[in-house]
Amino acid sequence: MSRRDDIAAGLAETEQRIVSACETAGRPRDDITLVVVTKTHPASDVEILADLGVVDVGENRHPEAGDKAAEVDRPLRWHFLGALQTNKAGAVARYADVVHSVDRAKLAHSLARGAEAAGRTLTCLIQVDFDATDPGRAGVVPAGIPDLASAIADAGSLVLGGLMTVAPLGDDPTPHFEHLRRLSEELRADRPDASILSAGMSGDFEQAIAAGATHLRIGRSILGTRGSTG
Ligand SMILES: *Cc1c(COP(=O)(O)O)cnc(C)c1O
Repeated sequence: MSRRDDIAAGLAETEQRIVSACETAGRPRDDITLVVVTKTHPASDVEILADLGVVDVGENRHPEAGDKAAEVDRPLRWHFLGALQTNKAGAVARYADVVHSVDRAKLAHSLARGAEAAGRTLTCLIQVDFDATDPGRAGVVPAGIPDLASAIADAGSLVLGGLMTVAPLGDDPTPHFEHLRRLSEELRADRPDASILSAGMSGDFEQAIAAGATHLRIGRSILGTRGSTG
């Protein structure tokens, strides 16, 4: 099979699983945005995805993400998903449309400066971490959400989009996704537009759909595995 056939098959199979999970959950498929995570895969794969109708692609590293965004000349929305150093935020703000991994006010301020300098508006999601046992994990603890939400909402050039999480490895993801949904309901009581719930990867997107996810971030089940930076 050609690479295009491979990707088309992975996309169709994943799409079918998304549709089934939506039916089971009694949710419309239109509620959900599929972000295809292209990290470690070449720009040519991103072009194939665009030809197949994909609109949202995700990357987790700078400068890899920026290089691809510069190389691929298609009307895509670029989602940045990874840990982000403050000193790279300005560069990311020039090409990203959505940053899923905002976990501190300092990062929000740097993204805001970068977006303003580029004349752009950047949607930011707050990355929430439920694994208190591992201080190395990215994300803010639930108690930190209101202050960070204010930092994002009050910074010019940023839009507070909602919340994101990565379920801790090896745990049942469902309680974490349901916790994220409750936090999202609390957030939306104050900020009704912050309606994005970014949850669910190749291994757990069906549970995420059941728990109310609006954005799925799926790489491997569509593109297979390649390289080792994931
Ligand atoms: C790599 C990555 C994904 C996609 O994971 P897959 O298992 O390949 O579907 C989703 N979210 C984040 C934050 C990632 O880094």
